[in-house]
Amino acid sequence: MEIIIGKHSGFCNGVRFTVEEATKALEEKKGIYCLGEIVHNERVIEDLEKKGMKTISSIEEAPNHSKVIIRAHGELKETYEKAKKKDIELLDLTCGKIKAIRIKIKNQLEDSFIIIMGKKNHPETLGVQSFSGKYSYILENQEDLSECKKKYEKSKKEKIYIVSQTTFNSEKFDQLTELVKQEFPGEIIVEKTICNATSDRQKETEELSKKVDLMLIVGGKKSSNTKELEVISEKNCKEVYLIQDVNDLKELKDWKKKTIGIMAGASTPEIVVKEIVEYLRG
Ligand code: SF4
Repeated sequence: MEIIIGKHSGFCNGVRFTVEEATKALEEKKGIYCLGEIVHNERVIEDLEKKGMKTISSIEEAPNHSKVIIRAHGELKETYEKAKKKDIELLDLTCGKIKAIRIKIKNQLEDSFIIIMGKKNHPETLGVQSFSGKYSYILENQEDLSECKKKYEKSKKEKIYIVSQTTFNSEKFDQLTELVKQEFPGEIIVEKTICNATSDRQKETEELSKKVDLMLIVGGKKSSNTKELEVISEKNCKEVYLIQDVNDLKELKDWKKKTIGIMAGASTPEIVVKEIVEYLRG
């Protein structure tokens, strides 16, 4: 058996920063709220909740004058406004790369219709769209094109400005962008804002999944970037498993003579991969 762990496996800088900053804040003060799951990983959430973090699903649940963490995905514009009204202190850990997308959009808002390529119900895309004014659209699939075009024509904007969810599939971004270029009139500016951490991980997953017999994708089931890794691997490798941790391996059989590739999503801590490797070797 050979095990190959992807070099780009595990926490990205944005997630590492979020977890470190939240841990520091909890050392100084217990009872800090976090709006949504801090990262899509149960182990990380449990650890921080033991240190005094409370996960809430809306800003309305946080008491007045409390402290609330905004996680790396960022939040809706109106959440910041509501927090201000309730005198809530925000520990805004929105990843710098997502803040940068908001700034790019702000500079284009006056004369552009904004298209965000990404998942429609993802907190990051919804957050970015909330800073994009009413002339914007989240384009996830080819089927959305005609609705998007109608909205664009109604906006009477001269230009189209395209950005991406930071964890969107790179190939899909290129395909959808090509279709927009073919079907939409007017000037089109494209900013492929997929994060390097994501594109490097996706590229390496593609290469790795071509040369192994079995691919283990490690991450939370709700994690968008982890799901993408599973989709990419399935194109190249017959045996692909999306697992959260070592407990999901118990069902796995006949791996001992295989070459195994391991790639962990951006919210998976190193210790989880270490335990999996120990189990496989043991
Ligand atoms: S994947 Fe990139 S953009 Fe998203 S949190 Fe990590 S570093 Fe930031």
